[in-house]
Amino acid sequence: MIKKTRLFTPGPTPSFPPAQQVMAESEIHHRTEEFKRILREALAGLRYFFQTQEDILIFASSGTGAMESAVANLLSPGDRALVVVGGKFGERWEELCKAYQVGVEKIAIPYGQALDPRVVRQRLEAGPSVGAVFVQAVETSTATEYDVRSLGAIVHEFPDTCLVVDAITGLGTMELRTQDWHLDLVVGGSQKAFMLPPGLSFVSVSEKAWRRVERSGSPRYYFDYRRERKSVARDQTAYTPAVSLIVGLSQVLRFVQEQGLDNVIRGARLQAEATRAAARALGLQVFSHSPCAACTGIRPPEGIPSTRVVQHLRKEFGLVIAAGQGELKEQLFRIAHIGYFDFYDILGMIGCLELTLEQLGHSLSLGSGVRAALQTYCQRREPGEPGE
Ligand SMILES: *Cc1c(COP(=O)(O)O)cnc(C)c1O
Repeated sequence: MIKKTRLFTPGPTPSFPPAQQVMAESEIHHRTEEFKRILREALAGLRYFFQTQEDILIFASSGTGAMESAVANLLSPGDRALVVVGGKFGERWEELCKAYQVGVEKIAIPYGQALDPRVVRQRLEAGPSVGAVFVQAVETSTATEYDVRSLGAIVHEFPDTCLVVDAITGLGTMELRTQDWHLDLVVGGSQKAFMLPPGLSFVSVSEKAWRRVERSGSPRYYFDYRRERKSVARDQTAYTPAVSLIVGLSQVLRFVQEQGLDNVIRGARLQAEATRAAARALGLQVFSHSPCAACTGIRPPEGIPSTRVVQHLRKEFGLVIAAGQGELKEQLFRIAHIGYFDFYDILGMIGCLELTLEQLGHSLSLGSGVRAALQTYCQRREPGEPGE
């Protein structure tokens, strides 16, 4: 039997075929007019994707590189930071701050719970001044979305504090208005909503953030925003960029602009909603109380570890999903909607998930998950869409 391998992990996600094509063909030197034009186009597309007119910088690293750059450029050793920790990626902010001798005040959130922005306000008003608040837009490890819009409004009232948002899986899956919402530093990565292979990271920098960048006493070299900003002003990067990925990026961003960002986001949200409906119809629980659209976290049936669901889907159907991370490993499995996915993908995924669960001994009525997903589609489709 033919079995196609399909990625359903929340990074890397499937890449956009036209981008694969131009990346394979690209052989451009980066100090040329041709590359400058491509970079200029990519940066304009990124401003649209991030919804900002402020600076965006591109680095040749995974997302964590840009996260590290945020800490190094905004804070000095001995500064203090408020860190929202509701999962593995919140913990990463905490570890990065510690690596740069930044004092961490933690706001711990139980796994899968929403963030109450008022807690951040209380902590900012109560304690000595903090240089930055670090948070995720989506905590991918628990498939949970946070209210960064309210956080932006709160942090905006504190003139010396920046809001840093790891939006690596928030971008392209939720409304995110970087500039209007006062998100001072927003981090993205190529292998998520940008439908590309891993290797590029992005960061938007507000005027308020630049004031801190100028003062930071932390060591930095490759990730020095000041040098990179000067290069970007000349349509260049300070060091050799990941040329082929940037060529692919400009292709993807052209596509996103044609589609409209709202429609890209709506697609992910529809798939997430359909997946949640399917899970419930199959007698399963959605892990998060504030579920995101980047991926859906589902608790496995009683007595079946998550990793067995993951293994079975891969072995029988070639479908690659993710288990939980760290101590949550067996408590949930995660199905991605971020990136180059359409409704057809999620229908097939749910069908194979039903067969998997049945074969692993979970009692269900075959087709009930798929039916719930179809019903969600019918309720959500808009005039002009197929079937209307
Ligand atoms: C994927 C991801 C990252 C980045 O991880 P890298 O492996 O360094 O690219 C960071 N934060 C979140 C929320 C993510 O989902």
